[in-house]
Amino acid sequence: MNKLQKIVDKAYETEQLSREEIILHLKDDSINEYLYAKAHQKKQELLGNEIHLRALIEISNICLQNCLYCGLRRDNSLQERYKLSKDEILFLASTAKQYGYKTIVLQGGESNTYPINDLCEVIQKIKKDDIAITLSIGEKTYEEYKLLKEAGADRFLLRIETTDCTLYEQMDPGMSHENRKRCLRDLKALGYETGSGSLVGLPGQTIESIADDILFFKEIDADMLGIGPFIAHQDTPLKDVPNGNLFLSLKVMAIIRLLMPDINIPATTAMEALHPNGRMLALTSGANVLMPNFTDEIHRKMYEIYPGKAQVAENNSLHIEQINKKIKEYGLVVSKTAGYRWNRS
Ligand code: SAM
Ligand code: SF4
Repeated sequence: MNKLQKIVDKAYETEQLSREEIILHLKDDSINEYLYAKAHQKKQELLGNEIHLRALIEISNICLQNCLYCGLRRDNSLQERYKLSKDEILFLASTAKQYGYKTIVLQGGESNTYPINDLCEVIQKIKKDDIAITLSIGEKTYEEYKLLKEAGADRFLLRIETTDCTLYEQMDPGMSHENRKRCLRDLKALGYETGSGSLVGLPGQTIESIADDILFFKEIDADMLGIGPFIAHQDTPLKDVPNGNLFLSLKVMAIIRLLMPDINIPATTAMEALHPNGRMLALTSGANVLMPNFTDEIHRKMYEIYPGKAQVAENNSLHIEQINKKIKEYGLVVSKTAGYRWNRS
């Protein structure tokens, strides 16, 4: 057994790796398959063969932020904008419920398009059906997060994107890394299941900083972690930057599974946008969550964070039976629960 395999085995046994050990892995591709298999084994052992489904509803593509990588950025004047009405959101949520989904994710650009009171009203109505609600609507104040929590929101996704503060502030002009971390602390303090994650392949990002991302996630004890390769969008300042590497993204995800075995990890759409079987590769390398897109066709096409995203949704079924059929080939099965973080105690 070589040195790298021993390190994977150590992570498997102890849930710990040093920064140097993580860097060694991220820089060497010789035992990727072994790492993926061990991450999958760890997931199966602790969480079983269940995959949790989350119905994604993209409530608005209006964004006041200007992240260089994202097609929804404020300065992308080529992007036509929309905001779903409260009734449209509730309709999509009820469709997801009819299909048997137990969690709904409301995602959107960062803006005040939705006054907090409107969002609270939508959350309260969806909660009447005993559905878990995840929000992914960017940075808010403590008070705003509190109101949304009191209305019934259960979880919140806010990727740190990168822990390299200088790179973050270059990529997300006008945003502060310190405030991003404040948001994550507030969300935890308010009792949200708190999700974060990162982009892999940002220009100027180093392997060392990706290792720091992994250690940061462990330090903040994130409940969910989404790792996605960066994909260049033609109407952004990063249009000529090469896409992130799918296999490096899978390695980051697999290492996270070994270090944080009990958390929820989605197979991200960006992985599938780069590879026709990207999400299944993820689901057999440590991921345990899928987020089928319930946004209607017209709006889904307008929620173009990166190219290829809408096509992924079109090529995939929303029907639990069909998803079950597909993942069964891999020894997996759709969970019947809302899929909160597994409780070890
Ligand atoms: N606006 C909210 C926010 O930024 O937290 C939520 C929606 S935002 C579109 C969701 C995620 O999309 C971001 O956290 C970012 O990591 C990802 N994303 C944006 N542009 C991307 C790109 N070009 N390639 C891959 N992922 C991208
Ligand atoms: Fe807006 Fe989120 Fe895109 Fe940044 S990543 S531009 S905050 S939608």
